[in-house]
Amino acid sequence: FLDRHGIIDADTARTLLAEARRTYIHPAPDAPDGSPPPDADSSTTRYTPSKKLQALVRAGELCCTFPGCNAPVWQIDLDHTEPFDHTDPRRGGPTDARNLKPLCRFHHRIKTFTSWQDHQDESRTAWFTTPTGHMFVGNAFSGRDLFNKLFPRRSPDHPARDRLNTQRDNDFRRHQRAEKRWNDANPPPF
Ligand SMILES: [Zn+2]
Repeated sequence: FLDRHGIIDADTARTLLAEARRTYIHPAPDAPDGSPPPDADSSTTRYTPSKKLQALVRAGELCCTFPGCNAPVWQIDLDHTEPFDHTDPRRGGPTDARNLKPLCRFHHRIKTFTSWQDHQDESRTAWFTTPTGHMFVGNAFSGRDLFNKLFPRRSPDHPARDRLNTQRDNDFRRHQRAEKRWNDANPPPF
């Protein structure tokens, strides 16, 4: 995957790699119960993420996490989903991969200054609630899908997915009831 271009073929990747200056990302493995590695503690209370953490978060998303935005990830902001508390960092959102996501400056401002709300779950997926209450999970695919050895798998019982399923079921039932009411009120022959 080449930033600003998308997926490239293996021959092109090899040609580019031969000339590239390389940095390798080796994330510290999560504990089996999903808790962060023990050495992550001190860095989670610093506002600015380490270069290693920045690279991990960016590789995990590939572009701005706002639904439908494809601003290339290496030039944009990293946003604390739960805000960082500068006076008491232990009370605010931590600086870790579960609370950081890339947002382009435009969508960073929308999130900060309007009634859009952002959320992020323990498997790092970000999703957004619009001012009308609709929910959207970020992009159709992310670096977590491409580089699945780097990241824990997304759980099938993701809260946003549950809520979207419930909403879809409710909409479907409401539509069925409306249709039945109309059919009852308008029996054949027409
Ligand atoms: Zn964006």
